Amino acid sequence: MDDRDSRAVDDVRMRGFAQRHTVDAALAWLDAQLRPLRAETVALQKAASRVLASSVSSDVDVPGFDRATMDGYAVVAGSTEGAAAYTRVPLVVIGDSLPGRPFHGSIAIGQAVRIMTGAAMPRGADAVLPAEWADSETADARICALSSVSPGKHVGRVGEDIRRGTVLFESGRVLRPQDVGVLSSVGVAEVPVWCRPRVRLVVTGNELLPSGAQPHADRIVDANGPMLAALVQRDGGLVDFPGLVCDDQDAILGALQTAADVIVVSGGSSVGMEDLAPTLVAQHGDLAIHGIAMRPSSPTGLGRIGNRLVFLLPGNPVSCLCAYDFFAGRAIRALGGRTKTWPYRSIRARLARKISSPIGRLDYARVQLADGVVEPLAVGGASILSSTTRADGFVIVPADSEGFARGADVDVWLYA
Ligand code: AMP
Ligand code: MG
Repeated sequence: MDDRDSRAVDDVRMRGFAQRHTVDAALAWLDAQLRPLRAETVALQKAASRVLASSVSSDVDVPGFDRATMDGYAVVAGSTEGAAAYTRVPLVVIGDSLPGRPFHGSIAIGQAVRIMTGAAMPRGADAVLPAEWADSETADARICALSSVSPGKHVGRVGEDIRRGTVLFESGRVLRPQDVGVLSSVGVAEVPVWCRPRVRLVVTGNELLPSGAQPHADRIVDANGPMLAALVQRDGGLVDFPGLVCDDQDAILGALQTAADVIVVSGGSSVGMEDLAPTLVAQHGDLAIHGIAMRPSSPTGLGRIGNRLVFLLPGNPVSCLCAYDFFAGRAIRALGGRTKTWPYRSIRARLARKISSPIGRLDYARVQLADGVVEPLAVGGASILSSTTRADGFVIVPADSEGFARGADVDVWLYA
């Protein structure tokens, strides 16, 4: 047995798991649980960042009328033929067309209607002579064209923005601010969206002080609660985090049974004396996965209690982040109709130093990018949360790989 293998076995013994599930097996169990919760209808004003539950098409053309795209004069293009700075062509101004206040008559050759950007083109006009190409210093009702315009010039046609019947957005679209603008412009007042999963955070540990307190003596301040709340919000969940929970059976059971779609427990997820949650989930529900062949985060558990999906995340902050990203975040996104994939961009870049990893275990290596080259920071050290803030992202070494050689091209997932 080489050195790497013995280390892997020690890992297993130290954490007390009889066997560890592969990440793939854990994901397979999880994915079988995941489908979007249910749809609800929300007013457009509340729709930004929500996920469409069905596609939306336009019932109208935008614009619904031909309109000026510049301030100037609506004309019959033919009237301006031959016009130039020294060949001024006179036109008679017969009215005004303003946005929301159209000119109701029609115009003929030799006539013009003063028009502003966005106003409806008068009947008979087919071009806009921009104001800077018209000399209006003569009599009030006359201008001179100083340039010719071709038919269609500076005119926005019916439907040039959106054609009636066009599918604007497919189901699953996370609505951006500009999407909401487009929906409003076609007369949509409310949209069907997937309900946001309610996520109860159960942050356990007798050593913890609430966020906002000063660390003192042997007490540490909760890092995972605020981090998880931010992650859940990022993934579209509704955070319920009423406060820290003691390492006490009744307190934890009460929290596990709150009304929620997802329960995310931090701490006490392994097999030690204070690790109460796994047993409680097994007793009151189904602890489907406990112990995963990955580093960090091996003491992770996945299961259900009633309709709630339960994630038992290790208390070590890096493990907590990694296990959230692998499992809980994936579920929260999927329940809310989002894609399961990570909300991180990935780039391909060259490794400055090798990353080694035993066969049979997936590793989550924090890395920095310096001049486009990947510098590994840490694989172990799950308690060093600042390794994730110093890092630009992470590299995953799959379970079937012994790692990557120096100079290899690897995928780097960039923390958002
Ligand atoms: P546990 O998973 O409960 O055994 O905790 C593992 C390590 O993570 C211990 O050193 C804990 O003090 C620490 N830890 C647990 N919960 C948190 C938390 N919410 N914030 C920061 N550190 C924590
Ligand atoms: Mg603990």
